[in-house]
Amino acid sequence: MAIDFTLTPGQRELQLASRAFARDVLSSARPVYEKLPTPEERFLATKPAYEAMVAAGFLRKCIPAPAGGENAGLIDMAIMAEELYSVNASITLTMLGTVLGLLPILIGGTPEQCGRLLEPFLRKSGAPLAGFCSSEPGGSANAASPPPGEGVRTTAKLHDDHWVINGRKKWVSSATGWDRKGADVLCVVCRTGAETRPETSVSIIAVERPTPGIMFERAIDAIGHRGHLTPQFGFENVRAPRRNLIGEEGGGLALSSASFTGTAALVGIFGVALMRAAFEFSLNFALTERRGGIHPIIEHQAVGYALADAKMKIEAARYLSWRACHAVDTQNPAADELAIQAKIYGSEMAVTVITDLMRVVGIDSYDNELPFGELLQDALALPIFDGGNMGIRRRQLHTMLKRREYDPLLASGAA
Ligand SMILES: Cc1cc2nc3c(=O)[nH]c(=O)nc-3n(C[C@H](O)[C@H](O)[C@H](O)COP(=O)(O)OP(=O)(O)OC[C@H]3O[C@@H](n4cnc5c(N)ncnc54)[C@H](O)[C@@H]3O)c2cc1C
Repeated sequence: MAIDFTLTPGQRELQLASRAFARDVLSSARPVYEKLPTPEERFLATKPAYEAMVAAGFLRKCIPAPAGGENAGLIDMAIMAEELYSVNASITLTMLGTVLGLLPILIGGTPEQCGRLLEPFLRKSGAPLAGFCSSEPGGSANAASPPPGEGVRTTAKLHDDHWVINGRKKWVSSATGWDRKGADVLCVVCRTGAETRPETSVSIIAVERPTPGIMFERAIDAIGHRGHLTPQFGFENVRAPRRNLIGEEGGGLALSSASFTGTAALVGIFGVALMRAAFEFSLNFALTERRGGIHPIIEHQAVGYALADAKMKIEAARYLSWRACHAVDTQNPAADELAIQAKIYGSEMAVTVITDLMRVVGIDSYDNELPFGELLQDALALPIFDGGNMGIRRRQLHTMLKRREYDPLLASGAA
């Protein structure tokens, strides 16, 4: 493989189209919802911008061509996500959370399931939502725990030709939809087997709207992603046809883990997007502000060095994430390792770099008129969502390192 980070003409076009959409549509979305008092009101106020995103074809660009979409791979998604997320993390997460909700179907679904369940997401109209229902009240870092750990608590039992699902979920992006009645499709991680070993008793079942039994409890008033919906809700005897089992019965944990590999590489890019927005503001501030002194503050060595350090970390995070995306696209054996590293590095760098850049700008960065408050609030989610870096992601790396066959040079291609 040649090492060449030059974008193809198609990728450059995608980058410019995403940048233009972010500037023309997303940049004006936040003032519409930011002052609204409840998370649900804020989420509802993002619907026109989300509809515009769908109409512009961005959701289709996340669905692979064999499934009827226009996605050419994870690197293309990363290029697009960086542009959109750097301008509005909330609405971009609503779209990418929907893609996460479809991933089990895209990875493990039959042609019949893909054709039937993906159809609303391939149109360039409406505001279709999907959710990946893994997290539960009481924690989900140990979903793979054997007894006496509880692991996954939500259950599905077969009655005639239907699964009947009971349990509670929390933090699932857009799961209760625009009206509390449920997203168009929910991929539910649940226990289907009577036996207790998680590797063989957890499955993923697709629940289609409309269905009775989605019990909205509350919309979490999260620290960041203020225009995005993460509800807590229950399944009370929710029915899904038997044919909506995605992949093998008992194969749910493996399918979850496969779904989360690609998203890990993208979370690295989310970090890049937020750092990049903070950097652009800070550089301009340093070039133009004298703060009562003689020279623009960039002339002070301490300021220049801090900006240089920040830029270096942004570049490093971007290329590690692109490398991870490429490894996922090419089914490289080091894809899991690189994706998790990109997730941990990009997410933790984002919190560090945004905080460092606030010190460059100084006290005015603490004014909500400036972008730092929102960027930092959004960044704080990155190390703890999509599998928290402590409870899940580092544990996955630790497990790899302990394997006898682990090869430290695999990720460099020099094994
Ligand atoms: C904006 C946003 C969107 C989200 N969207 C979704 C979604 O669409 N679908 C979804 O399912 N979830 C979603 N989540 C939840 C998110 O993915 C969490 O990462 C996930 O719930 C796991 O959280 P956790 O690792 O903190 O686990 P928890 O089980 O809550 O663990 C808490 C802490 O306990 C410690 N811990 C627990 N077990 C171990 C262990 N074995 N080893 C070491 N430490 C341990 C760690 O310190 C860990 O951080 C979202 C969250 C946010 C903020």
